[in-house]
Amino acid sequence: MTVRALRYEGKKTVVLTEIAKPDPKEDEVRIKVKAVSICGSDVNGYKGSNSLRIAPLVMGHEFSGEIDCCGSKAKIFRPGMRVTANPNLCCGVCSNCKKGDFNLCDQKVVLGTSVGGRNIQGAMADYICVKEDNIIPLDDQLSFEEGAILEPAAVSLHGIKRGGDLEGKRISVIGAGPIGLLTIMLTKNMGVRQIISLDLVEKRLLFAKKCGASDMINLQVQNLSAVKTLTDQEGVDVVFDCVGNEKSMEQAINMVKNGGKIIVIGMAAEKINFPVKKFVAHEFQLFGSYQYKEEMEEVMALAAKKRIDLNSIITSVLPLDRGKDAFERLCSPEPEDAKIVLRP
Ligand SMILES: [Zn+2]
Ligand SMILES: [Zn+2]
Repeated sequence: MTVRALRYEGKKTVVLTEIAKPDPKEDEVRIKVKAVSICGSDVNGYKGSNSLRIAPLVMGHEFSGEIDCCGSKAKIFRPGMRVTANPNLCCGVCSNCKKGDFNLCDQKVVLGTSVGGRNIQGAMADYICVKEDNIIPLDDQLSFEEGAILEPAAVSLHGIKRGGDLEGKRISVIGAGPIGLLTIMLTKNMGVRQIISLDLVEKRLLFAKKCGASDMINLQVQNLSAVKTLTDQEGVDVVFDCVGNEKSMEQAINMVKNGGKIIVIGMAAEKINFPVKKFVAHEFQLFGSYQYKEEMEEVMALAAKKRIDLNSIITSVLPLDRGKDAFERLCSPEPEDAKIVLRP
């Protein structure tokens, strides 16, 4: 029996095709996918510029759905249950996994990506099989679409935690794509003094405002002196760089105050030039932030309590067969969409 899948088949090519209906292994459950969100990393894959997306591949690691059947040793979940999943399949035995630092497991593979010559089917399909250990029950309060945004929101929440206590702090967020917007949405309720959002696209800055930014700076028409003006010439306490290239890192270093923190969540560039002298002489603190640990569950609790509204960053919900349009829209040099969710 075959089912539908949106398959990446090479640069700028995704095709709705038929694949064999996946059978769950004994420790897996099969999920009827109800919603799958397109990640920036998938868009880079579509452009042919992500080494972790090798055609032919069914992408998709941000999703939710309903359990359809369970492997013989899957004991906790039952058919019909509404769920989402942590798409990171860790080894469980390395020293990082044992400490609970699952995001730092070197053996980890991710659903919907290519690792070491192996492609792991993702959720842009009617069905996906996932290890039962990775399944997270979806709160009744949340729609399937919101369920598909928990994964990127967890990325933002992990980054925020890397920034430490933000109470009374001035922060800035570079990049108002989904991760930047979710960072703004989540920090809004943490007692921060000011949230400055920076981007090059006006429409995205309007989203940032809607998500709770106190000030918006369009770097197309304004320069970084605007940050100084907004912060009594001091600069911000913490910068969240949701872009991660040379330009954004330079901006971060020029807007953070002496001794301040820079949390890098985006990783647009492989390598950059870095102003070592300035960095050392001002005692800036630089943190990388990668994926998440328990943050998917924590974000779900916040959304269920209506502390955050994940719907506010979903700009389109399209059927799976409109996947090509969705990728094309997200590929534009100045995309006006935040999140596009596909419904198989
Ligand atoms: Zn992602
Ligand atoms: Zn491990």
